[in-house]
Amino acid sequence: MAIPPFTPLDPMCAAMTYSPSLIPQIIQAIAVTIEQNAAAVTELDQAIGDGDHVFNLQRGIQALLAQREELGQLDNWALAWQKIGMALMSTVGGASGSLLGTLFLAMAKAAKEQPLDMPGFAAVFGLGVEAMKHRGKAEAGEKTMLDVLVPVAAHLQTPGQTLQGVLAAAPEVALAGVEATRDLVATKGRAAFLGERSRGHIDAGAKSSQLIIAAICAVLSATPA
Ligand code: ADP
Ligand code: MG
Repeated sequence: MAIPPFTPLDPMCAAMTYSPSLIPQIIQAIAVTIEQNAAAVTELDQAIGDGDHVFNLQRGIQALLAQREELGQLDNWALAWQKIGMALMSTVGGASGSLLGTLFLAMAKAAKEQPLDMPGFAAVFGLGVEAMKHRGKAEAGEKTMLDVLVPVAAHLQTPGQTLQGVLAAAPEVALAGVEATRDLVATKGRAAFLGERSRGHIDAGAKSSQLIIAAICAVLSATPA
């Protein structure tokens, strides 16, 4: 029987050597984009939610800003995500607090069993999003932040991409997810109480998730991996 040829890992996909020393810069970039878009995102949450989403997020961001130097000195992502998840869980409040906390805690757990090259990170992020779906008993298509996170997770897991290509396209994928929430009827979260009347509005959590993803990608794109 012929021995199959050795297939090395796609070199384009093999490298992802970002270290947690980037965390302070990432948290700062997230703080800036949420601040700059605070009024617009609050308006979205006022239309079909209770208007506190930005306030909730900013409590989490303040907690992370306070810890940012300590987080940046950690030598592994699993520990950093665990600390971030715990901070978000205990400070953000609202539906989004436990959901975002769950995302990071699940990523921390998954990262302990994975090398964090690009495919490894994609798998870890995918498991984080799965945990969030489970926590909120929700799927994509229900007009929530999952309408951004699920397609972004799928995008990361598409094989054969360069890291720079992934980082360039992820914000576009996220933006398409935000736009898609406009025509959906909410079936989860506070907006679900409005039923049909939720149609025609963008979901606030989808918008904030897209802003956060764009901020992270901008920092990573500007940093050689
Ligand atoms: P609350 O709805 O408790 O006031 P926030 O205003 O902080 O909490 O967050 C609202 C956002 O949370 C929504 O815009 C939506 O994106 C997201 N969300 C709500 N419920 C769920 C769920 N079950 N799964 C995923 N995301 C959800
Ligand atoms: Mg709210």
